Amino acid sequence: AAVIVAIDGPSGTGKSSTSKAVAAALGLSYLDTGAQYRAITWWMLGNGVDVDDPAAVATAAAKPVIVSGTDPAAPTITVDGVDASGPIRTQEVTAGVSAVSAVPEVRTIITELQRSIAASAEKGIVVEGRDIGTTVLPDADLKIFLTASPEARAARRSGELKGVDAATTREALIKRDTADSNRKASPLAKAADAVEVDTTELTLPQVIECVVTLVEE
Ligand code: C5P
Repeated sequence: AAVIVAIDGPSGTGKSSTSKAVAAALGLSYLDTGAQYRAITWWMLGNGVDVDDPAAVATAAAKPVIVSGTDPAAPTITVDGVDASGPIRTQEVTAGVSAVSAVPEVRTIITELQRSIAASAEKGIVVEGRDIGTTVLPDADLKIFLTASPEARAARRSGELKGVDAATTREALIKRDTADSNRKASPLAKAADAVEVDTTELTLPQVIECVVTLVEE
């Protein structure tokens, strides 16, 4: 039977690197759900929708067609057929994504998309996000919740974002995690049956090995 692995946690915990590597090691598909919320946010920004106006975001939510490629070696994302993998990583999108993803209509559409992608993964899939174990795939075979100290998370993000100073990165990251944790519609949360892995003192290969072992058990 297909194996479903849910990996949740805040930003900067190594979620994406871990999820891709685990999927590749086990021959599973991979889905980055944050990229989907970023893609819808990018579309809103490019189409004149005020991302801080929940009613406007709700009205437009079904318009963009978002398609995710689930090969962990080369994940892709398109919006209306256009490659969005670069633009979804800009600071503008990062700053707007929490507001867009808090809109219930957006979550309903993206959650349905995620469930259909997971259901069609023949060998199984590793799905990373914030609410996968709690809301999107509550029957996942394994649920992981990755954590790390705020310092470690900010340091990892600064390493990725060249030219942005550490204090700015740290502030933006805390602001986004607070918004993601406090929204009403399926907030960032650890499922009751998730295994929590604190990555603060672990290297990436150690985290990958830990999760692969848990899947194989
Ligand atoms: O994982 P990443 O940092 O790219 O996610 C971007 C944003 O998308 C998060 O800060 C959160 O607002 C939203 N998100 C979400 N639910 C998910 C995944 C991401 O609300 N399952």
